[in-house]
Amino acid sequence: MGRRGGAGGSKWRRPHRPLNPGLIDGGVVGGSRQRRADGEYHVRAISGAAAVKSYVCPGCGLSIAPGTAHLVAWRADSLFGDEHAASERRHWHRRCWQIP
Ligand SMILES: [Zn+2]
Repeated sequence: MGRRGGAGGSKWRRPHRPLNPGLIDGGVVGGSRQRRADGEYHVRAISGAAAVKSYVCPGCGLSIAPGTAHLVAWRADSLFGDEHAASERRHWHRRCWQIP
């Protein structure tokens, strides 16, 4: 019979705003809009801490490793609506996004 340790229960929350309030549902908010040669895009910065998956950058075709700060962008003028566009958003290296 072992004693039960006192682990757990150390939940301390601090108020924080959700990273992407209503990114998919409820329309697109936050981030910035940028105009590119082929149209307008919503652009949002992803911090290294928030980057938990690896993605393929459409700019250079190389992968964006988890933990790498990068950008996510999607069409602001999609024919299929913002919701659809947001579901097809692309992850870009910061540098690649800036190269036209
Ligand atoms: Zn790239």
